[in-house]
Amino acid sequence: MHRRQLLQLFGGLAVGGLARLRAQPRTRRRIVVAGGGIIGASIAYHLARRGASVRVLEKTAPAAGATQNSFAWINAGFSKRPREYYRLNHLSMLAYRQLALDLGDDLPVQWGGSLAWSDRAEATARLERQVRARQAWGYPVHLVDDAEFRRLEPGVVRATASPAVHATEEGNVDPVAATLALLAAAEAAGAEVEYPCEITGLDLSAGGLTGVTTTQGPFEADALVIAAGVATPRLAALAGLDVPLKESPGLLAHTDPADRSVGRVVLAPGAHVKQKHNGRFVVGAGLGETAVADNPDEAPPTDTSAERGRRMLEAAARVIPAIAGATLDRVTLGFRPLPRDNYPVVGFAERQPDVYLAVMHSGMTLAPLVGRLAAQEILDDVRVDLLEPYRVERFG
Ligand SMILES: Cc1cc2nc3c(=O)[nH]c(=O)nc-3n(C[C@H](O)[C@H](O)[C@H](O)COP(=O)(O)OP(=O)(O)OC[C@H]3O[C@@H](n4cnc5c(N)ncnc54)[C@H](O)[C@@H]3O)c2cc1C
Repeated sequence: MHRRQLLQLFGGLAVGGLARLRAQPRTRRRIVVAGGGIIGASIAYHLARRGASVRVLEKTAPAAGATQNSFAWINAGFSKRPREYYRLNHLSMLAYRQLALDLGDDLPVQWGGSLAWSDRAEATARLERQVRARQAWGYPVHLVDDAEFRRLEPGVVRATASPAVHATEEGNVDPVAATLALLAAAEAAGAEVEYPCEITGLDLSAGGLTGVTTTQGPFEADALVIAAGVATPRLAALAGLDVPLKESPGLLAHTDPADRSVGRVVLAPGAHVKQKHNGRFVVGAGLGETAVADNPDEAPPTDTSAERGRRMLEAAARVIPAIAGATLDRVTLGFRPLPRDNYPVVGFAERQPDVYLAVMHSGMTLAPLVGRLAAQEILDDVRVDLLEPYRVERFG
């Protein structure tokens, strides 16, 4: 897609009736973003390039939370339901293309799509039905036969000749490098990024927000964006807000760099695999989507031992033989910032109009669009229709 088409698409979103204007736009002068993960970084970037005064306060280091432990598959796949949530994810996939134009090589994103299949007839039939349903929504996904599969990914071995699902516009990204690139671009546009700096209190004594207290002293603020991942409920509680999350651990095994053998995200029965720009394989277990659909009773793993990592690599090597020759580097355990009903929480809280919440799973996919729309809501004092289903007030 060309730059002009993208600008038309997103320009169309902004003026085409998706944003509802309030009568009296409110000016926010000093915006503090709590959290330097992919979501805080994207919001800060979009705020700063609009000329806002932004300060990112990060408790540990950029990307230190869920982001660094993410598989970082960019997708609007079958788990993205209902249609409005699918659409949010799909628009964000397109927003990544724009971000890649803006940040250039600093954004380590790999396109080429994903390939998924099952070796069980019943699951294959379900995948085929899901493909038909997504095609009817206009998603670029289709079935490929075994010969085409082998042409696309000659380094992948399948125990079946059943058709596979090729979602052609999906991608994957290096989550830490992407976060650093967004923060660097935010800083270049005037934002300040401080770490380690933990927000410990909010000054709401004057009726609205006037500042935050931190381990590095106080900072003035008239708006606070809480993008603190799984720590969001704790920060939100300081403002009297309840943001219910549920626990969702996920393991990844990472290898040392190896020769390139796959270009796409490979969603095999029992193992999700990608190979990063630098040659490292990343293997996921219990990530949801195909793996869970094929093993619905499998408990989420939390064991980060080298033994567990080796077993994950063995499962992956049955599909990508090159992994058998790769060395396990480490096993990471991450916790998805997953709201109780699985959908994002985004937007100003009605009870605390200076506090903007941004917590979600699939944040690696959603960051480009959510960052841009959040900046629009904060700076233009509008409510973007696309985000209406995701307000915190739905929890009552
Ligand atoms: C195993 C796993 C696999 C995943 N796979 C995918 C995938 O394939 N595709 C996808 O789209 N998404 C995926 N996700 C989800 C995605 O990674 C997350 O949605 C995303 O990283 C969330 O980013 P965040 O910035 O909201 O949170 P985080 O990255 O957790 O960042 C929050 C930051 O806030 C900081 N913080 C906390 N408290 C404070 C405080 N009081 N003051 C200041 N700073 C504070 C933390 O230190 C942290 O750096 C996966 C997640 C996991 C764990």
